[in-house]
Amino acid sequence: LKINITEIDIPLAFGPAFEGERVRGGDLYCQMGGGKTQCTELVKMADMKEIEDGKVEVVGPDIADLKEGDTLPLGIYVQIAGREFQEDFEPILERQIHHLINYIQGVMHIGQRDISWVRVSKGAVEKGFSLKHLGIVLHAKFHQEFQKILDKVQITLYSKKEDVDKLTERARAEYKHRDERVDKMTDEDVDTFYSCTLCQSFAPSHVCTVSPERTGLCGAYNWMDCKASFEINPTGPNQPIKKGKVLDPKLGRFEGVDEFLKQASKGAHETYNFYSMVHAPMTTCGCCECIAAMLPSCNGVMTVNRDYAGETPCGMKFTTLAGVMGGGAASPGFVGHSKFNVTQKKFILGDGGLLRVVWMPKSLKDEIYDRLNARGKEMGVENLADMIADETVGITEDEILPFLQEKGHPALNMESLIS
Ligand code: SF4
Ligand code: ZN
Repeated sequence: LKINITEIDIPLAFGPAFEGERVRGGDLYCQMGGGKTQCTELVKMADMKEIEDGKVEVVGPDIADLKEGDTLPLGIYVQIAGREFQEDFEPILERQIHHLINYIQGVMHIGQRDISWVRVSKGAVEKGFSLKHLGIVLHAKFHQEFQKILDKVQITLYSKKEDVDKLTERARAEYKHRDERVDKMTDEDVDTFYSCTLCQSFAPSHVCTVSPERTGLCGAYNWMDCKASFEINPTGPNQPIKKGKVLDPKLGRFEGVDEFLKQASKGAHETYNFYSMVHAPMTTCGCCECIAAMLPSCNGVMTVNRDYAGETPCGMKFTTLAGVMGGGAASPGFVGHSKFNVTQKKFILGDGGLLRVVWMPKSLKDEIYDRLNARGKEMGVENLADMIADETVGITEDEILPFLQEKGHPALNMESLIS
């Protein structure tokens, strides 16, 4: 027996109309994540007997325990059971948390995975908003939208630091496992890429193309995920794209991708190069994990991740870059990408690939350290991670150039970046 839920029992208005709504400084009552506290999301498959459909539990303090201006850590843990459910579907449902929470009037959701951010307005708190409502929404909408593949949904909202940290540690291992599923695949292995237009509600002309060697720029969707999503929902936001004729193998331009892009961006974009940030790069939306930018004096590029709030050698912080790029723009010299993509083989390969990267925040470098060195080695450079400057070396091109020279960074001997 399938359960049909049409009413969503929360004291706030709910629907796609509120998706683009912002919670700005003056309206803000409290927030979770966004660099202030940890905020993590995880969807996991469960055994039918193990969970209770519709059970929503808040473990720790709730909104009513806070005062204006407070922050709270948050872990959103969703367990799903169903005869048709597969582990491969977990990332797809997890990625829906973003727009579904945004459907709540007065509540804003940014990001994904372990870099989520929930902002709650004063208006929502006056109407009696509780963390429990997040679970009620997810339970109802998951049943509505994924009826075919699930039978039970149980949600736990953790708001004590030790619980959130525990969930985060577990979630990171899951993300890693998911990311690595495409590790052995190459773009040449497949004749079909997938589109993702999930972000068009915020960035109307943005079209992600996802290939085995280029995960979605949010980091939450890889080729396998898009493929599974298309199987669940053949008319949904992830459509197969036949690569078609290869128009430029180096920069990564494909006839099929261009045709799809024209139609899916409603004519806003004609073409993009899949493996370049210098020449006609892919469009970028606001949820990218990182943004890469050119550093002409160093003949290289930098990248900065969302979780780094400081200055960067391109003269802009992440938030400024995201503000300029995040609406679906495609600006030569800049591109949004996922953290995992940095060490995927096609990362800006048309511009020289990973060996062009001369700066990134230390936190990102530490996070992907082993993969950086492994990929660098594949490209013929030992200990690449230690040659890449970070904020402890400098935050201007002038400050980092002597370091790159001293380390013998490979970008300095590459052909000119702007040719
Ligand atoms: Fe899809 Fe791209 Fe948005 Fe990720 S960033 S949800 S892959 S459109
Ligand atoms: Zn987006």
